[in-house]
Amino acid sequence: MGRLRRTSFIPFIALLLCTAVAVAQGTKITAPKNNYKPADDVQVGREAAAEVSKQLPLLPQNGDADSYVERVGAALAAAIPSEFQHPEFHYTFSVVNASDINAFALPGGPMFVNRGMIEAARTEGEMAGVMAHEISHVALRHGTAQATKSQGAGVQLGAIGGAILGAIIGGNVGDIVTQGTQLGVGAYLLKYSREYETQADVLGAQILARAGYDPMDLARMFETIEKEGGSRGPEWLSSHPNPGNRQERIAQEAKVLRVSPARRNQSTEFSQIQASLRRMPPARTMEEIASSNTKPNTGSGSRYPDNARIGGNVAPPSNRYRVFESSFFRLSVPDNWRQFGDNTSVTFAPDAAYGNQEGESVFTHGAIVGVVDVSASDLQRASDQYISGILQGNSYLAAERGYQRTRMGGRDALARRLSGTSRITNQRELVDVYATMLNNRQLFYVVQVVPANEQRQYAKAFNDMLQSLRFLN
Ligand SMILES: [Zn+2]
Repeated sequence: MGRLRRTSFIPFIALLLCTAVAVAQGTKITAPKNNYKPADDVQVGREAAAEVSKQLPLLPQNGDADSYVERVGAALAAAIPSEFQHPEFHYTFSVVNASDINAFALPGGPMFVNRGMIEAARTEGEMAGVMAHEISHVALRHGTAQATKSQGAGVQLGAIGGAILGAIIGGNVGDIVTQGTQLGVGAYLLKYSREYETQADVLGAQILARAGYDPMDLARMFETIEKEGGSRGPEWLSSHPNPGNRQERIAQEAKVLRVSPARRNQSTEFSQIQASLRRMPPARTMEEIASSNTKPNTGSGSRYPDNARIGGNVAPPSNRYRVFESSFFRLSVPDNWRQFGDNTSVTFAPDAAYGNQEGESVFTHGAIVGVVDVSASDLQRASDQYISGILQGNSYLAAERGYQRTRMGGRDALARRLSGTSRITNQRELVDVYATMLNNRQLFYVVQVVPANEQRQYAKAFNDMLQSLRFLN
């Protein structure tokens, strides 16, 4: 079988983006001038967040790490001073499975915290510090305020979203700037101004204190980021430049703030989450993620070496297995199957069973495992979409019968068989498709391919592969 339907992952990122008088509860801040409505922030942020969810690997929603960050974030959001609480805004918190010490927030409330940031923080307070700073940019509506400043250029809402995304998905600044230019906005949206940075630091310190954290944790987190900055932390600092006296300004603010009593034991839970993240397979950097996302979508299931020869004697599956582990799942495959693939799909096939024909990557024995974006959230409709893509790309195949309910990696799954006469082997080919929903409208699939006359030899390997599948976290 050859072509599998895959979504093209176009890296698309947008940008987000303070004046003062001392009062008892800290410095009084005035949000900058803004010609947009709060509902505009919400719209821009929602669209950008949908794109981010497609582009970046997120830890499972309601998993331990995600739920924990969501709880900390909710406490911080509740501590935003009332004058900056916009009823339209909805603060949400997701964990990106990326190693960089980075975090970003989108207009209207969606926030993404990198796993690397949580692992680098020395305390929950430090992690909360960065989150409070990001929340402050959102609450003060710095993204749309920045666009207001450059109103002369007539910045459209969509362009703001595009530029915001560009700044975030990071790493590939060249691509991002290009994208921003195409959208009619310049690099100005790629980082916050120093004035906005000071506002976010001051409001961030106030939010921390109101939520029961030591406001100096924000200053401490900047030290942590700078210390690690050489290797993993520069991206955050480049989009949040030090206005010059960052630590001193936060310390000055901390002196006039009264810290609310902490409501829970922060350190135990933080340590547990940190330990569980550190047990996970290493995360990729944002740059690695961005570059795998930009690979052109060739429409084929995978890329094989140019000299791969298909046809001839294909060895039966070995009885010995090896474990394949990605950032979010693990399974066992016969140890004589090679693997090819990228971020979105991996093909496992024995020698002589894969190759390039007429510009297409094809394989006759083995399996392909991956994730595809679907517009349906319902498993059967999502599976229909995915299978119709396979049928379109492989016109010799037809669906044999209806779906069968099954389980895969502890989740409800559907199975469906496709078959037809392969143009490569001239034999009847069986293609078994297994699918289950992940969060964010993504369908996880395992597709097993074998000539019908060799099915028996492959039954055990295929079954063992499915039984061994585990979703991580
Ligand atoms: Zn900032």
